[in-house]
Amino acid sequence: MQASLAKFTCTRTARAIASNARDLLAGNGILLANRVARHMTDVEALHTYEGTETVQALIIGRSITGISAFN
Ligand SMILES: Cc1cc2nc3c(=O)[nH]c(=O)nc-3n(C[C@H](O)[C@H](O)[C@H](O)COP(=O)(O)OP(=O)(O)OC[C@H]3O[C@@H](n4cnc5c(N)ncnc54)[C@H](O)[C@@H]3O)c2cc1C
Repeated sequence: MQASLAKFTCTRTARAIASNARDLLAGNGILLANRVARHMTDVEALHTYEGTETVQALIIGRSITGISAFN
């Protein structure tokens, strides 16, 4: 449960930071030379391969409520 909470929080925060950085730079945010788009795509991989955010949320929810909502 603690590992899921850490993965859920870190990947969610990283996605938000990368998205904010891209927004801050506007048009320049999607130029590869400025490296923001690269971080955005890198963090998308983390969002999936460390266990998807949805599955982490299901694990956290089961730990808190004792009820499993897995399909
Ligand atoms: C860049 C990259 C590197 C990888 N490297 C490795 C590696 O080295 N070793 C390895 O073993 N694997 C690796 N993987 C695979 C990775 O572990 C899987 O992609 C990941 O576990 C998600 O599985 P999936 O892609 O089959 O998606 P699925 O499990 O098919 O998920 C699809 C969608 O359904 C949702 N979902 C899945 N199950 C449920 C459920 N029970 N209830 C509700 N929603 C659900 C998910 O959240 C997601 O939104 C890698 C993946 C990537 C993208």
